[in-house]
Amino acid sequence: MPQINIVVVGGGFAGVSAAKSLSKKLKKNSDVVITLIDRHPYHTYMTELHEVAGGRVEPSAIQYDLQRLFSRRKNVQLVTDNVTELDHQNKTVITENGQYAYDYLVLGMGGEANDYGTPGVKENGFTLWSWEDAVRIRRHIEDTIAAAARERDAEKRTAMLRFVVCGSGLTGIEMVGELIDWKPVLADKYHIDESEIELVVVEALPEILATIPRVSSNKVEKYLTKKKVRILKNAPVVNVAPDNVELKTEEDLPTHTLIWAAGVKANTDTDEFGGEKARAGRLVANEFMEAKDLEDVYVIGDLVYYEENGKPTPQIVQAAEQTGHTAAKNIVAAIEGGEKHPHESNYQGTLVSVGSKYGVAYLFDKIHLSGFFAILMKHIVNLKYFIDINSLYYLVQYVFHEFFHIKNKRNIFRGHLSRYGNVLWSVPLRVFYGSMWLVEGLKKAFGILGAESWFGDTVSLPFSWLQEPTSGASEAVVEEVAKPVFGLSYAYGEEPMMIFKEAPGWFESIMKIMIPNTEMALFFQKFMTYVEIAIALALIFGLFTWLTSAATIGLVISFALSGMFYWINIWFIFVAIALMNGSGRAFGLDYYVIPWIQKKAGSWWYGKEKSLY
Ligand SMILES: Cc1cc2nc3c(=O)[nH]c(=O)nc-3n(C[C@H](O)[C@H](O)[C@H](O)COP(=O)(O)OP(=O)(O)OC[C@H]3O[C@@H](n4cnc5c(N)ncnc54)[C@H](O)[C@@H]3O)c2cc1C
Repeated sequence: MPQINIVVVGGGFAGVSAAKSLSKKLKKNSDVVITLIDRHPYHTYMTELHEVAGGRVEPSAIQYDLQRLFSRRKNVQLVTDNVTELDHQNKTVITENGQYAYDYLVLGMGGEANDYGTPGVKENGFTLWSWEDAVRIRRHIEDTIAAAARERDAEKRTAMLRFVVCGSGLTGIEMVGELIDWKPVLADKYHIDESEIELVVVEALPEILATIPRVSSNKVEKYLTKKKVRILKNAPVVNVAPDNVELKTEEDLPTHTLIWAAGVKANTDTDEFGGEKARAGRLVANEFMEAKDLEDVYVIGDLVYYEENGKPTPQIVQAAEQTGHTAAKNIVAAIEGGEKHPHESNYQGTLVSVGSKYGVAYLFDKIHLSGFFAILMKHIVNLKYFIDINSLYYLVQYVFHEFFHIKNKRNIFRGHLSRYGNVLWSVPLRVFYGSMWLVEGLKKAFGILGAESWFGDTVSLPFSWLQEPTSGASEAVVEEVAKPVFGLSYAYGEEPMMIFKEAPGWFESIMKIMIPNTEMALFFQKFMTYVEIAIALALIFGLFTWLTSAATIGLVISFALSGMFYWINIWFIFVAIALMNGSGRAFGLDYYVIPWIQKKAGSWWYGKEKSLY
């Protein structure tokens, strides 16, 4: 069979979904090669652009290396290049540096900001539709505030400290929300009064967030007003100068920063690609995502115009992913035979964040959420995306950059999850905890310090089926001596209390299977002693501290369930949790071992990250 080439252009939400889906469905067809071309070596997590632009997360947090996303997909090859032309006659995609023949072509090149020809936006405004845009806005805002802090001319200073967002759709509101959170941080950093920084939203329509239910948009408006954001409605921008924004209402807004979030159109790189165009240059497709008038070409994501129940597909992530899947299914049907799959959308709702701590959500056409729960839901939806694309690595990265590494308390848990201390202070605790396990292990190994050795012929495990039969009299004596008293520390003269006096029934049943007789018990005792000593040494020398600390928690739980652990030693668990803070990275072997493993395992599993694929 000749090779079948599927070329996917665009590694955004739509392109990644389509390529992943194609790769999975066609993995047994060795004739198929999928080529994913993007101008970047990474996938841009567009829904967090405003968080980069507004200084919440680091720019690198939203760049997801495509090699990492496709590392285990042998039938996908990556190309980093800019697609400039399509040669439909020869079924070839032309890039700045090469040409790629296709049998099936998927276009998922997204959109770009639409300035509707408003004078000055291109030259003097800032759009927010790519990673580069976000970084440019972030740097400009910081530089402008730093410069304003040194400006003595009051009028000029006011203009520099006024930040105008044009457009109150999702993008505009999410952007101004980040600025609300960033304002006090910047004011503090550059030693200016926070009240000097003014945030303005200008909207051409009579209401903000016109695409979501009124109940939600009213809440957002109330929140913005509370945060002193000036909202100008019915106020289209007519001209943007370097230091002024002119409104149709004839009001002037002296400013050095106009962020244009007023609309989206199709990626203009596709202008000459042929095919029928609809509103804002989007390429028209049928229900199978096949481009109108273009053979074997499929269009997905923000770029596609497909009307469903009289409405075009919305330019949102859910639609991007779903159109990507539809195109993939229909390409598979074209290659392997079978019925075509008409597109069926299934949108679960809209979530809008207004900064890191407030948001609104309208879900399943009935549920309204706001505040903490709306933002929590947004994080859950974002996390689900990583499950959809099978990327545990980026799921973990997301949790880290949104929760554990966030600065300036900019998330719903404020700073409680991201307060960092020096692990140096936990080194003595690590060595002490390890030494304690070592002493216990050595006592069991050698029967020293008054303990009985676990290496002899005596079974020390307390399970009833392993015990020699004892006389009723001796039991009575034990009963008389033992009067356990509950306490979390040892009090002089008191008999400490076990967590469980004897193993619960379900645990006993498991243990009966694992340790059915005396021989097994003696072997188990020795084995556990070796484990304790190994754990002890690992802790003392700081090797795999996270894992060994977690293992000690497991041991404590199993000792407790076996009826061998006292309440007064419950602190083991809390010490182990404290040591999971990377304690072995200071004066421990983890300092060398963990980065080495991360590097080796990373390049073995994911391949080497490159700047050009
Ligand atoms: C600030 C902001 C916030 C948003 N928030 C949300 C939200 O909360 N929820 C939501 O559902 N949607 C949100 N969206 C919209 C959402 O991001 C888009 O609907 C989604 O990204 C569309 O996916 P896509 O794959 O079609 O396009 P994109 O994600 O834009 O991907 C297009 C890809 O094509 C590549 N490309 C473009 N031109 C070329 C070329 N010539 N050659 C090679 N490669 C090229 C680009 O590099 C890019 O990787 C937001 C958008 C923005 C800008």
